[in-house]
Amino acid sequence: MYDVIIIGAGIVGSSVAYYLSRYDLKVVLLEKDNDVSNGTTKANSAIIHAGYDPEEGTLMAKHNVRGSRLAKQLCEKLDVPYKQCGAMVLGFDEEDEKTVRMLYQRGLNNGVEGLEILNKEQILEKEPQISSEVRIALLAKTSAIVSPWEYALALAETAVRNGVELKLNNEVKAIKKTDETFLVTTDKGIYEGKYIINCAGLYADRIQEMAGEKEFEIRPSRGQYYLLDKAEGKRCTHTIFQCPSKVGKGVLVSPTVHGNLIVGPNAEESENDDTSTTMGGLAFVKAASRKSVPNVDFRENIRNFAGVRARSDRSDFILEESRSVKNLFNIAGIKSPGLSAAPSLALEAVEWLKGKGVVLTEKEHFIDERKRVRFKELSGEEKQELIRKEPAYGRVICRCETITEGEILDALKRPIPPVSIDGVKRRCNAGMGRCQGGFCSERVADILMRELHLNGLNILQDKEGSNVLLDYSKGGNSNV
Ligand SMILES: Cc1cc2nc3c(=O)[nH]c(=O)nc-3n(C[C@H](O)[C@H](O)[C@H](O)COP(=O)(O)OP(=O)(O)OC[C@H]3O[C@@H](n4cnc5c(N)ncnc54)[C@H](O)[C@@H]3O)c2cc1C
Repeated sequence: MYDVIIIGAGIVGSSVAYYLSRYDLKVVLLEKDNDVSNGTTKANSAIIHAGYDPEEGTLMAKHNVRGSRLAKQLCEKLDVPYKQCGAMVLGFDEEDEKTVRMLYQRGLNNGVEGLEILNKEQILEKEPQISSEVRIALLAKTSAIVSPWEYALALAETAVRNGVELKLNNEVKAIKKTDETFLVTTDKGIYEGKYIINCAGLYADRIQEMAGEKEFEIRPSRGQYYLLDKAEGKRCTHTIFQCPSKVGKGVLVSPTVHGNLIVGPNAEESENDDTSTTMGGLAFVKAASRKSVPNVDFRENIRNFAGVRARSDRSDFILEESRSVKNLFNIAGIKSPGLSAAPSLALEAVEWLKGKGVVLTEKEHFIDERKRVRFKELSGEEKQELIRKEPAYGRVICRCETITEGEILDALKRPIPPVSIDGVKRRCNAGMGRCQGGFCSERVADILMRELHLNGLNILQDKEGSNVLLDYSKGGNSNV
C-alpha cells in the first residue's frame, strides 16, 4: 500500500516526488513513457520566467514567482544547467509602450525583483542585434534559461535515490475508489494508495475522469520552434520577447543554456500530444522573430521541434483537491509558466497532504545533492586524472559536443538509466550538436546494446515503437 501515488513524471510530477522523498512515506511515481520528462517538459522555450506576465492574484503569478526562486536553488544543488541571463520584453509602438509599463507594474505587484524600463539607447547598447525600430523594453534580470529535461531528471533521480519508486512504461488505465484507498490500474499492474496527485499534463483531465466526474478539459495548444547552431548562439544574450497577446507570450529569440539559439513558439490548437512541425507554423515563427531580431541566420537551423501546452478550459492553473473525488489532488492545466512554477506547485501538494493529516516525518538521511561529470568543462589536468581512473573518459563518442563514453556509462549506472538514444542525449548531450547525432547515434546504439544486452532490433530512438532498425539481415551494418 502506497501513501501517495503520483501520476506523470514531467517537471510537475518529478517535483512532487522530490519534495515527498524528504519524508518517511511510501511513494510511487507512475509514468506511461519509457523515460522521465518525455512529455511537454522536454519541448518548450526552457525559460524560468521572472513572473511579470501572469495577472496579479492568480495561481500562475504566485507560483511563477516562488517557483523561479526555488528553481535557482534546486538547479544549483542538483547540478542542472541554469543561467540567469535576463529577459527583455520589447515595445515597438504606443500600444506596446503601455503594455511594457503595465507589465513592469504587474511584475512589481507580483513581487518580482530586478525589473527596469529601458529606452532605445539602453536596449541597443545591451543587445545590438535588436531591431532599431524598438522604442522601449522591460528588462527582467531574474529571468533564466535552464535545461528542462535535466531539471526534471535531476529531481526524479534524487527522489528515487531517496526511496521513491519510479514505474516507467506504466500507463494509468483505470482508477477505482474504495472507501479509504484507490486502486490504480496500469497496463503493467495494480497499485493501491491512499492519495493520488494527478500530474498527467495533457491527459490530466482523463485521469480526473477515471476517478470521478469530468471537472475540466485540457485543450492542447502546440508551439513550434527553430533550434539554431552555436554559431548563432550569441546573436543575443538575453531572452528577447515581444509584447504578449491573448494567446501567449509570443515569439521569442533566446540563447539556450547549451549555447544554441532558440526561436519560437507559435500557438495553434492541436490534437493531444501531436508534436509534428509544419511549414506554415515555422514560417510564421521565422517571420515574427524578425520583428525583434532581424538578422537571425536561419541557415544555421539544426532542428525543428514542437511542444504542446496543456491549456485547460479554466484561465488559471488548476491546483486543488478534486471536487468529486476525495483524496485526489489535481495539478492540471499547467501551461506556461509551468516549468518555472513546478517546484512551488509541488510544495502546494505537500501542504495539501499535511492538511489531510498525513504525518510528514523528515528522513534522517535525505540525500539532497547530485553531481555529474561534464568532461569538456574540466581542466586539462582534471581530464587526464579522470582518464587515468576510467579510460572510457578518453573515448569521445559525440564529436560535436565532446561527450565521452565515460559520461554515457555513468548515465547508465544512475538511478534512472537511459533506455534509448534520445535518453542518452537528454542525460549527456550526445547528439545535441551540429550534426544532431548523425555521427554518434550509431556509436551510442552500440554502447546501449553492449551495456543493456540488447539486440540491435530493440534499440529505440526515443519512445516505445521508435525502433531504429526494423531489419538488418538485408545488408545493413551488422555491428548495430
Ligand atoms: C511551446 C511551449 C513553450 C513553453 N515554454 C515555457 C517556458 O519557457 N517556461 C515555462 O515556465 N513554461 C513553459 N511551458 C510550459 C511548460 O513546458 C509546462 O508547463 C510543463 O512542462 C508541464 O509539465 P507537466 O509535468 O505538467 O507535464 P508533462 O511534462 O507533459 O508531464 C506529464 C506526464 O504525464 C504522463 N502521463 C500522461 N498520462 C498518463 C497516464 N495515463 N499514465 C501515466 N503517465 C501519464 C506523460 O507521459 C508525461 O510524462 C511551455 C510549454 C510549451 C508547450
